Amino acid sequence: MSERKSTCPNCEITAKARKANLVKNAEKAYGKAPADEYVELREKSKKDLYLNDTLSQISSVYLDETTGQLNLKFKCECSVCGFIRNYNKKINLLEDEC
Ligand SMILES: [Zn+2]
Repeated sequence: MSERKSTCPNCEITAKARKANLVKNAEKAYGKAPADEYVELREKSKKDLYLNDTLSQISSVYLDETTGQLNLKFKCECSVCGFIRNYNKKINLLEDEC
């Protein structure tokens, strides 16, 4: 078993959409909103995206010598958005060619 943490792809999509929305709001406010409000919106939209490593991953790869099958297991779960994936795959090395 191997464990690691990384950025969640689902949180990344959400963060990019939020940033795109902030940019759009700043553009809409140009020439309409009071200057200080526009500046504030523009500053917010310029902030870099920063995502914590909230995706926990557990994986294992091993060859079952009694069956000749390669076992691939992968599970990940995000502690922020609840994104979860779980894969279990067995590959028969004698029948499957690359
Ligand atoms: Zn997430």
